[in-house]
Amino acid sequence: MTHVFHRHLRNTPPVAVAASGMTLRDAAGREYLDASGGAAVSSLGHAHPDVLAAMHAQIDRLPYAHTSFFTTEVAEQLADELIRTAPEGMSHVYLVSGGSEAVESALKMARQYFVEIGQPQRTHFIARRQSYHGNTLGALAVGGNEWRRAPFAPILTPATHVAPCYPYREQRADETPEAYGLRLAGELEAAILAQGADRVIAFVAETVGGATAGVLTPVPGYFKAVRAVCDKYGVLLILDEVMCGMGRTGTLYACEQEGVVPDLVTIAKGLGGGYQPVGAVLAQKKIVEAMSKGSGFFQHGHTYLGHPVACAAALAVQQVIHRDGLLAKVRDDGIAFGQMLRDEIGNHPHVGDIRGRGFFWGVELVADRGSKAPFDPARAVNALIKKDAMARGLLCYPFGGTVDGRQGDHVLLAPPFIASRQDLQKIAALLAESIDAVT
Ligand code: PLP
Repeated sequence: MTHVFHRHLRNTPPVAVAASGMTLRDAAGREYLDASGGAAVSSLGHAHPDVLAAMHAQIDRLPYAHTSFFTTEVAEQLADELIRTAPEGMSHVYLVSGGSEAVESALKMARQYFVEIGQPQRTHFIARRQSYHGNTLGALAVGGNEWRRAPFAPILTPATHVAPCYPYREQRADETPEAYGLRLAGELEAAILAQGADRVIAFVAETVGGATAGVLTPVPGYFKAVRAVCDKYGVLLILDEVMCGMGRTGTLYACEQEGVVPDLVTIAKGLGGGYQPVGAVLAQKKIVEAMSKGSGFFQHGHTYLGHPVACAAALAVQQVIHRDGLLAKVRDDGIAFGQMLRDEIGNHPHVGDIRGRGFFWGVELVADRGSKAPFDPARAVNALIKKDAMARGLLCYPFGGTVDGRQGDHVLLAPPFIASRQDLQKIAALLAESIDAVT
């Protein structure tokens, strides 16, 4: 009998008791190779000595100070480091405890910005279908994961959802990737005009889509075209890099590879690498200035903003990433990993698509490769893969997204950046075994 309110109430998961490097161990002594960093969280693997040492030192020195009374040295250092390495134009960092909090904060910052500059009529967000921005009500309202939204839909603030950038299913046969990207940007423009251009606060998108459609990498030029549309109508661009940021795709921010700078960018997961709950919003100067010249106050806040131990963990994670050259490693080994996946499962009759960047890969499973028909949702192929993989000692992150109004099955792979080529090869081989066994 458990008193923990688990995600699933009819079965209790194994008890994790220890972890180090690429491996977690449960109370029964079983070991699991971590191919997904939890949900793309553990970027440095488990029990990294430098991160643990930084956290211990911070706890000994100053475990907590409330941000309505104090700032802390470590929060200032982390913000300096994040701005030093951020896309140009970012000037301030708002430090929160996770991804949903980061998205909520960004939505409110965007809204308050327009209130401050005398455009309070801007009340509407536009986001994308098959997206995920978090489970709190504001984040869920902009998110496009129908399954997560369904029970709460009547209490969500209305938002408009346009098409995601999903070439495998939605790029037309007679269309180049560039033309597809322009078509999508045109759809965004039409949605802005349908709302009334002066009523829209922001367009919200994951730079590389993560947990709803299995790693959606944007086509070339898509985000540049989106940025141009937003600029044309004074609409802010909020990029959600909670999952794809912090080096996951081989650059610290995924948007660096798109050549665009958002007005606000959210990060979490890999920011603290799982060592502490921590997230952040990076804001462009104009947004901070509007508030500082206006009310002088961001009308928001949480008890654990800028938690010193969380900041110490995040700062150490950043330092290790740069000191150990992990971005270049993720880029190089990511190309090799993609090839390993294609070699192992590229010809599998139930693998429809393999896509990704760096250490961020999605495998889309289909009932029929030719027609791209998804599996019957009743088969819950994603849940079976997760179970089978765990039995083989592999942690991957399968889930069902919505394809043509039906659940589709994807497996997300997001190994820690410290994974060796042998680890990556083992991940690809074990996943192949699970896909074979389940499909
Ligand atoms: N945004 C994106 C893109 C995510 O992938 C997630 C989590 O998966 C979130 C926001 C929510 O983050 P959290 O679970 O830390 O609240």
